[in-house]
Amino acid sequence: MKNNKVITVTSPLLPSLDEFMPYLQDIWSRQWLTNNGYYHQELEKALCKYLKVPYISLFTNGTLPLMCALQALRITGEVITTPYSFVATTHSLWWNGIKPVFVDIDPVTCNIDPNKIEAAITPKTTAIMPVHVYGKPCDTEKIQTIADKYGLKVIYDAAHAFGVEVNGKSVLEAGDMSTLSFHATKVYNTIEGGALVCRDEKTKKRIDYLKNFGFAGETTIVAPGINGKMDEVRSAYGLLNLRQVDAAIDSRRQVAIKYREVLRNVEGISFMEDMSGVRHNYSYFPIFIDADKYGMTRDELYFKMKDQKVLGRRYFYPLISEFSTYRGLDSAIPENLPIAHKIANSVICLPMYHGLDSISVQRILEIIVR
Ligand SMILES: *Cc1c(COP(=O)(O)O)cnc(C)c1O
Repeated sequence: MKNNKVITVTSPLLPSLDEFMPYLQDIWSRQWLTNNGYYHQELEKALCKYLKVPYISLFTNGTLPLMCALQALRITGEVITTPYSFVATTHSLWWNGIKPVFVDIDPVTCNIDPNKIEAAITPKTTAIMPVHVYGKPCDTEKIQTIADKYGLKVIYDAAHAFGVEVNGKSVLEAGDMSTLSFHATKVYNTIEGGALVCRDEKTKKRIDYLKNFGFAGETTIVAPGINGKMDEVRSAYGLLNLRQVDAAIDSRRQVAIKYREVLRNVEGISFMEDMSGVRHNYSYFPIFIDADKYGMTRDELYFKMKDQKVLGRRYFYPLISEFSTYRGLDSAIPENLPIAHKIANSVICLPMYHGLDSISVQRILEIIVR
């Protein structure tokens, strides 16, 4: 019997509408909608606790914290980054007039390869912007050693790494700052939203000025800021979603276990294993297709799945360095990024979300196993 329901690549984590209504009533009665209101403050506190970080500033999406981190640290010149990410990572550099310098990735973690960073450093380099791709932690120690040696700042794009811990410590503690995205498709969402994590109170204050036009008082502007503020409605929604995010991560873990169990025996398909000492968030389930061994190319499998209404995502494909905006850069030439190209041409992220039922998982696996 053919099941014709579309299986999407993700599905948003939504709080119960009944539970949300009293929050809305409260916001309506307070008549305070944005600019560091009650729920905004409560969510910052709750996230600090949940994420085990000292300072967090909420934003209206996950791109503005990247842009403001670069402003707050006064980054200029060139920044070393990865081509294997969502475009926003590199766009944030461009919006700040900074030249992105792409470095190839590690074939196992898909994160920037720390062993290739030093060769890309020039007198103009001021920072490194790595990404914890799929929530898999970067080699933060190695990156920090290089940063310290050359006096560089490190800003992590941790959009995928909500709740990820290494040996009980938040991965968001690494580097000078880390950014988060709370977009609807992420493990934890506030519909649209994001945050910037920093290490000290003075820096948080500067970030909070930057996200509110640079206002440091009624008539004082201390920086050319922007409007990056999160509102009360989404802050309240975020407080409710935080209560169920652990259960959602656990449900994703169950899906990953089922995928791995079956795919382990499929010739030509590989996937990522859990890393020891890491609390993963199972944000994505990428598989990598070796066309020769599997007998079908990545795109053939991708479209075969699509024909059967199973929507994967070629994530990340194309590489950022292949977009017309960036392909003119010296570091964007494919010879400089062989591993990234290989991975981008072999990856499909399988459907992955809380509550993806076992019948659907079975249906997805049957298409891949053949
Ligand atoms: C989602 C995402 C962003 C951007 O976040 P938005 O909230 O959509 O602005 C940035 N970097 C990475 C790696 C992402 O996945």
